[in-house]
Amino acid sequence: MIKYLKPKQEYSDLYDKTTISYCRDMEKLWFDPKHKPPKHKGKNLSKRQLASLFEFQLHFITGEKYLKKEEVINKWMQRDEERDRLLEETPPPELIRCGTCNSLMESESKHLWGDKDDRVLFFFVCPNKCLHNKGVFDNGEVWKSTPTLCEKCNSEMTREPEKVKNKIAITKYICTKCDHSFIDKFDLRTKKEKPDPNFEKDKARFCLSEEKGYKYLDFKRRMEGLSEIIDKHKEKEKNKDLYDKVGKLKKLTIPQFKEFIVSILKDTHYSNLIFDKPDMDRIVSLSFTLEDSKTENEYESSANLKKLLKEKLKETNWGLMSEGINYRLGILSGRFRVYEKEDDLVKLIK
Ligand SMILES: [Zn+2]
Ligand SMILES: [Zn+2]
Repeated sequence: MIKYLKPKQEYSDLYDKTTISYCRDMEKLWFDPKHKPPKHKGKNLSKRQLASLFEFQLHFITGEKYLKKEEVINKWMQRDEERDRLLEETPPPELIRCGTCNSLMESESKHLWGDKDDRVLFFFVCPNKCLHNKGVFDNGEVWKSTPTLCEKCNSEMTREPEKVKNKIAITKYICTKCDHSFIDKFDLRTKKEKPDPNFEKDKARFCLSEEKGYKYLDFKRRMEGLSEIIDKHKEKEKNKDLYDKVGKLKKLTIPQFKEFIVSILKDTHYSNLIFDKPDMDRIVSLSFTLEDSKTENEYESSANLKKLLKEKLKETNWGLMSEGINYRLGILSGRFRVYEKEDDLVKLIK
């Protein structure tokens, strides 16, 4: 039994209604003289300026409302589907007996209960038609009505059976101790909605068609792209010196870099430079070995080469890997790496 879930169009209409009412409120607030209207450089805006500023604002409001529509409607439908499922699938509590004749009672109807509609209340009737039906929750808890108390003597009041006259339900409450009584009226007529002559006109203004909504989405994406470019530009302005330095670095390819290293070492006591095959992984690296014919001190030898390389590599987009230089039996070895991305180069210089 589907009780809560309605056709999608109804949710769509409800969403449009809330959008229209939201935008109407905004408009009222915007043009209300009691509410401080926005100013430009301390000056009040003319009516025309104010109106065009509002239209500009409205462009964003209606666009965002359009973009959220599908998601909100789906949420609403899901919630009602869950209500239906809870009501449908929750079994009634068992072995509920009549307080008068002790017969097993039968569940006659059921309803969702609670602020969040998250409990099911079952109404039980006696097969022998005893009075006092019972309301029992799905967990077996018996529903109790809160007693109405007399406002004069605070005693419990009884209720006469409800009478319906001209679609108005009338219930008389009588005090059990004193002579106080009162009548409670409940209007059963479904309230007609007031006619809203501007509804269609405002719907056209505030609820975007698919075509207009798509245009807004396109506009928004372009705006976001633009602000990204501006942010990037600002960041570059701020780190102008860094980016200038990056621009001046010698960006060397692997063969160019090999030649560069050979030229550095040409007139030194290092010889027999050998490069391994470059490692073309995420970070491109290049291992090397060379011979030191002069230095006998292990520490001094690697420290000297490190100093020399570091000094020369500063001008390029290459660097030594963090493991540094190894020395063993007159052979020095190490690894270079390249910095390819601009961001990495900025970090390198920093
Ligand atoms: Zn009974
Ligand atoms: Zn009383």
